[in-house]
Amino acid sequence: MLTYNKQFVEGKEYEAFQTDNLPNKRMVILTCMDTRLVELLPRALNIQNGDVKMLKNAGAIIRDPFDSIMKGILVAIYELQAEEVTVIGHRDCGMSHVDTDVLTNKMIEHGIEKETLQTLEHAGIDLHDEFRGFDSVEESVQHSVTIVRNHPLLPKHIKVHGLVIDPGTGKLDVVTKG
Ligand code: ZN
Repeated sequence: MLTYNKQFVEGKEYEAFQTDNLPNKRMVILTCMDTRLVELLPRALNIQNGDVKMLKNAGAIIRDPFDSIMKGILVAIYELQAEEVTVIGHRDCGMSHVDTDVLTNKMIEHGIEKETLQTLEHAGIDLHDEFRGFDSVEESVQHSVTIVRNHPLLPKHIKVHGLVIDPGTGKLDVVTKG
């Protein structure tokens, strides 16, 4: 990556990407960190550099109205002129049907001490809850959209949408339109 980067900068390849930090489409998107979406999602939605604010996490999930994703959305609205929020889950997501028992066993296999897990549990951190996935991507997207729509700090004029993308074809299905 570092070798490539040197050539990229020296060859002024950045010139094709120059833009400012305000989203041209006035939109903030939350989607999943899935590798298949890195290039496919922007292409399938006609998103160019500079068009949107893009937030990602495992599963495109918002659980807590004051988590870092929700803060990112609010900053995009208040500081960066976003007027629409779109949550985009996807088919075949790694966060669907997550088995938290298997996950904690893998942590132990990778050298995490059982005592560490117990200490976290005693500190009130429920790993089963923290890593809980979802069974239905539509329900998960709808749930995240509802948290955004009902947020006490969300201005009334902000539209919040929910979509599901197919990571094979890029096809979008609408869960809910703002
Ligand atoms: Zn995913």
